[in-house]
Amino acid sequence: MKILVINCGSSSLKFQLYNMDNNEVLAKGLVERIGIEGSNLQYSPKGMDKIVIETPLPNHDEAIKLVMDKLVDPECGVISDLSEINGVGHRVVHGSKYFTESCVVTEDVMEKLNKCVDLAPLHNPANIMGIKACEKLMPGVKNVVVFDTAFHQTMPAKAYMYALPYEYYEKYDIRKYGFHGTSHRYVSKQAIEMLGNPEHSKIITCHLGNGSSIAAVKDGKVIDTTMGFTPLAGFEMGTRCGDIDPAIVPYIMKKENLTPDEVDNIMNKKSGLLGVTGKSSDFRDAEAAMNEGDERAKLALDMFRYQIAKFIGSYVVALGGCDAIVFTAGIGENNGGHRAAICEYLSFLGLEVDAEKNKLRGSNIEFSTANSKVKAFIIPTDEELMIAQDTMELLK
Ligand code: AMP
Repeated sequence: MKILVINCGSSSLKFQLYNMDNNEVLAKGLVERIGIEGSNLQYSPKGMDKIVIETPLPNHDEAIKLVMDKLVDPECGVISDLSEINGVGHRVVHGSKYFTESCVVTEDVMEKLNKCVDLAPLHNPANIMGIKACEKLMPGVKNVVVFDTAFHQTMPAKAYMYALPYEYYEKYDIRKYGFHGTSHRYVSKQAIEMLGNPEHSKIITCHLGNGSSIAAVKDGKVIDTTMGFTPLAGFEMGTRCGDIDPAIVPYIMKKENLTPDEVDNIMNKKSGLLGVTGKSSDFRDAEAAMNEGDERAKLALDMFRYQIAKFIGSYVVALGGCDAIVFTAGIGENNGGHRAAICEYLSFLGLEVDAEKNKLRGSNIEFSTANSKVKAFIIPTDEELMIAQDTMELLK
């Protein structure tokens, strides 16, 4: 069975074509600058060199059509006919209260997807465009939607409600949703396997990348997570501020004479690591600056580690204990220094890091010592594979 996985942004599109018989990626790539001057496709077929094609791509239909042309191209294609593709799995950012799991696209699903647009105005319209383009270009092939929010829908009301007037929840669906759900689901499943598939498990998954979130997963189900109504909540990220005193928002707006959109932009795009260092949103740049004596880079990284450790501590309380802490995504998988510093805060739990194992990377690794009371895992995330697997299951 072959499954195409598509992740549409407002002006970009990432794709991977899987052979599900062996989970092999047959081709993958990225279309950038859709609808903008300079649009291009970067296409990497398995076992061949990457190809870059620069051509005007005015919309997502044209972008997906170009991807499909390449997949069946006699020279660089990986399949001989589009009919070999059995289904398409789409990443969708927001499923609101309507979607608790992945599902096959129907008219009813499209109606509900449109209702979610208000909650993710930058992302969901692009996801919908991707689905419509596939329906048009591959009639008869089923589309499946996989949501960033769905895995978190098991949270109890005491975790997802905000202490605001209740009518805002009723009128505007204002509550915590959580994001990165597909990643938290993938790595928590892997962690449960690494623990030997126990009947009960208490796992804390830390997705630490440019955007970051942590989830508390009890017996395979999320009971709390750090991102909230939007991905802005939680702790310091590349450019997002994470949790702050909400009263700061109107205060800065008055002082700097800002509109709601301007202050939103500052909190999403100009804060976090970038805001505190004043230099870069990239954690490798910040580390290099810290090593050269930059005090603000050191402060920003200290804040990052401290805030994460505090959330993990609070989730140990929420779970009533902890069997394993998982580190994943760009920073979580690659930066042993941050992992060690975060685990150091948690040593009172009996968590002990094996310094040699903490240097490893690239596969599922248990980097806590044999005596450690809490296990610590590095698990490379694979959201695309999770989307492909959901699509395959739903098509069966
Ligand atoms: P992601 O959003 O998951 O792609 O993660 C991006 C972040 O991961 C950036 O801030 C990078 O600096 C960081 N990152 C990626 N690779 C490494 C690495 N080898 N060592 C340390 N940080 C890394």
